[in-house]
Amino acid sequence: MKKSITNYEKHVIKCPSCGKDVLDHMAICPYCQGKLQVGYSELSKKTKKTVKIVLWIILGALAVTLIILKVLDIF
Ligand SMILES: [Zn+2]
Repeated sequence: MKKSITNYEKHVIKCPSCGKDVLDHMAICPYCQGKLQVGYSELSKKTKKTVKIVLWIILGALAVTLIILKVLDIF
């Protein structure tokens, strides 16, 4: 019983606009409709950026490999 309460409290943050208790997965405060600082949207943005960088590295490596293979074929 006590564990579930602590678990719940872990996700409770104070709204920067009205100071009421809101859950950290919320992007907008249900009381004042103010934007909340903490949210999964920020995290997903970073993840998306990382995925994009990794994709570009893979594409770049693939392009270099193809160029090398073409050059080796010609010569
Ligand atoms: Zn609020």
